[in-house]
Amino acid sequence: MRNMTLRAIACLVLLLTAACGEAPPAQAEAEENPVDYAIAIHGGAGVIPRDIDEETRRGYEEALRQALELGRSMLEDGKASLDVVEAVIRELEDDPHFNSGKGAVYTWEGHHELDASIMDGRDLSCGAVTGVKTVRHPITLARKVMEETRHVFLSHQGAETFADEMGVERVENSFFDTERRRQQWRNMRENAEKETGTVGVAALDKNGDLAAGTSTGGMTGKRWGRIGDSPVVGAGTYADNRSVAVSCTGTGEEFIRNVIAYQVSALMTFKGLSLNEAARQVIHETLKKGDGGLIAVSHSGEIAMVFNSDGMFRGAADSSGRFEVAIWD
Ligand code: ASP
Repeated sequence: MRNMTLRAIACLVLLLTAACGEAPPAQAEAEENPVDYAIAIHGGAGVIPRDIDEETRRGYEEALRQALELGRSMLEDGKASLDVVEAVIRELEDDPHFNSGKGAVYTWEGHHELDASIMDGRDLSCGAVTGVKTVRHPITLARKVMEETRHVFLSHQGAETFADEMGVERVENSFFDTERRRQQWRNMRENAEKETGTVGVAALDKNGDLAAGTSTGGMTGKRWGRIGDSPVVGAGTYADNRSVAVSCTGTGEEFIRNVIAYQVSALMTFKGLSLNEAARQVIHETLKKGDGGLIAVSHSGEIAMVFNSDGMFRGAADSSGRFEVAIWD
């Protein structure tokens, strides 16, 4: 009898909670800590030796800080998250520290093939390019695909012809050369080492709109037109105003197999996980140690930066005054 009464009370509480529309865990968490805007960036994950010299470390941190400050100030000024994602990635593409645009890794044959994607969380529109060899800012071309065509994904020569039609800047392939990446390429040819890296941004603006983008040179020594996760929407990039904006970095093949960026969104939407729970689950349970990481911003401004590799170049800022960059744990 006592048990039945207790069960009845429990049922009543459950019913009342449902009737009052109590927030699912993700929402409840964020409402305790609302922010007007938030941004997270990454400059790639992988084996980053902890004993890199002081000057090199400072160089990376300064590059991340500059990019993060550009995004933060644009968001503070009320700019749209989509514009912020594109502008910050353009800056990172021009920075030789990172494997995207200038400073991209070399293919097996000793050239550069660049990939990028961008997604607008307002309506799931997205654009991507892969295998472009002469486009200075692949992220801008990806955005043109999204906004100026009825397609989502353009590749190789066709994407470059489209760049000309759109007036998007093209450069010689050697523009992307750097001595450091050439050395990595020589090491790869001799020792089969696979250097990676990528850049990505996820942002929430003052309007409550999410956007994400990713840009990369891919993997050192890639051949046969190999494409990683970065330009694959759902794998390397995803944004949906109802849940989250995500950009990934790491061994692209694993991120494609497990549809990682979308999986974060799905875990939040269908399972009610918070952003951090969802991100930790995909990085530490779905993927294997060393595969890489992701940065993400939820619809309520929660930020996640999770990785299972030695390190991940990353940064986060929001309207509460948070501003941080980091490389290792
Ligand atoms: N995910 C990229 C690729 O596989 C590389 C990276 O992020 O390090 O092309």
